[in-house]
Amino acid sequence: MKGYAMLRIGETGWIEKERPACGPIDAICRPLAVAICTSDVHTVYEGAIGDRHNMILGHECCAEVVEVGSEVKDFKPGDKVLVPAITPDWNSLEAQAGFSMHSGGMLAGWKFSNFKDGVFGEYFHVNDADGNLALLPEGMSLADACMLSDMVPTGFHAAEQADVQFGDTVLVIGIGPVGLMAVAGANLRGASRIIAVGTRPVCVAAAKQYGATDFISYKNGSISEQVMAMTGGKGVDRVCMAGGTVATFEEAVKAVKPGGRIGNVNYLGSGEFVTIPRVEWGAGMGHKVISGGLMPGGRLRMEKLATLITSGRLDVSPMSTHVFNGWEHVDEALQLMRAKPADLIKPVVIID
Ligand code: NDP
Ligand code: ZN
Repeated sequence: MKGYAMLRIGETGWIEKERPACGPIDAICRPLAVAICTSDVHTVYEGAIGDRHNMILGHECCAEVVEVGSEVKDFKPGDKVLVPAITPDWNSLEAQAGFSMHSGGMLAGWKFSNFKDGVFGEYFHVNDADGNLALLPEGMSLADACMLSDMVPTGFHAAEQADVQFGDTVLVIGIGPVGLMAVAGANLRGASRIIAVGTRPVCVAAAKQYGATDFISYKNGSISEQVMAMTGGKGVDRVCMAGGTVATFEEAVKAVKPGGRIGNVNYLGSGEFVTIPRVEWGAGMGHKVISGGLMPGGRLRMEKLATLITSGRLDVSPMSTHVFNGWEHVDEALQLMRAKPADLIKPVVIID
């Protein structure tokens, strides 16, 4: 089979590989549509997960099942499915402890284009098919289905990690596709005021649609100072981190109130340490909670989040700003995600 792969850090291309084998509880699927992620850019061009040779890229797609193992009960060849970016081993101790995304080790629930070939190939392997796949709801578009792999579950996880409550003022740092879903998640959880940080006009417009009430540009000086000016010097109840750098993290600590909470899903990609500003953290006594997490994957999560779309509570269609047809456009889509032009939220490639 053919796959679009990371050949080494900084280099991609099409390669030939053996079609993956199907274990007793696994499935083999073929993508119906794939989406490119900022994480693919980090993986290829920043060496975020280290060097990888001839590893097929991609972790966002919806697919058709082509083969299932002898123990798989709920899926059969021909089923159209949602595929989470994170596919835990559900019988692991980490999953039993409630942290399935870390099954097998920290972040090890992320298998596609990390520990094994990803979904940008003619076929791909899914571990624990009954635990990880979900049926594609009738009538859901393939592009919308791709948003359920990673963008919805990750953005919503920022709102979960920040533990957004009714009436909260929430700061969402970064309103790329992940941050936009953090805005939508915070809105659904009952935030009364959502301050969004980002500049791309298409993202600002989408953030408004998803419930952002105020906007800040990180290019206009310190985020925390702007937040303080907007909140009468009080700060915000919650911060969702979905963009920026290690230095931006300090802004989050400064902007959140005592007793507030930061939920990070941003990839903090450089340096040895993340520093916490001592005074604004109450010299260690400010009850400012810092939490961060890889998205939870798995079937139940996919099924539940899908109902938000099918019920009309969440419209992810504005996210897919660039839709291509055919595998030959995958490279172009990856380069778009790398360049982040002003009109881009998310590129999707329809295969079927
Ligand atoms: P984008 O690059 O599309 O969006 C980043 C956002 O951050 C933009 O709004 C950008 O603003 C803003 N930004 C850039 N620099 C700064 C800064 N210095 N201060 C504040 N804001 C800034 O990224 P994605 O939405 O695709 O992904 C966001 C992050 O989430 C990535 O790091 C990605 O790797 C990570 N991720 C994490 C996952 C998880 O499970 N935890 C899963 C998937 C992704 P502007 O409008 O100016 O461009
Ligand atoms: Zn992703």
